[in-house]
Amino acid sequence: MKVKIKNTMWERRTSYFFEIPEYNEYEGDEVQVKWVTPSQLAITTGNPEFSFRVLERSLIVEIDGKPYTYESAKPQTKIVKGSKGQEYTVTLGKKPHCTCTGFQFRHTCKHITETT
Ligand SMILES: [Zn+2]
Repeated sequence: MKVKIKNTMWERRTSYFFEIPEYNEYEGDEVQVKWVTPSQLAITTGNPEFSFRVLERSLIVEIDGKPYTYESAKPQTKIVKGSKGQEYTVTLGKKPHCTCTGFQFRHTCKHITETT
């Protein structure tokens, strides 16, 4: 796969003495690495000393020439019905949130675990 990714140094390009490209392109095969989170992508480099690189999916703009957007990085809300018919709003994403009282105390609840 060919991955086109935003260069995080580009925004600060004026502080470098060499030219910073807006995007980087990497080519390799996707690899499964235990500590890579779902928001990251690991691909091979073909370099034995540095066998794979980890890319942030939120920075990827294209994969194999097709536009790419990392949907699950964006917060998503869902209405969940409680056991007594109450309705709670569950927000999924990097920081899950729920409007029920259990969440206010424990910062997690069954509504979040049930929706993810
Ligand atoms: Zn809840």
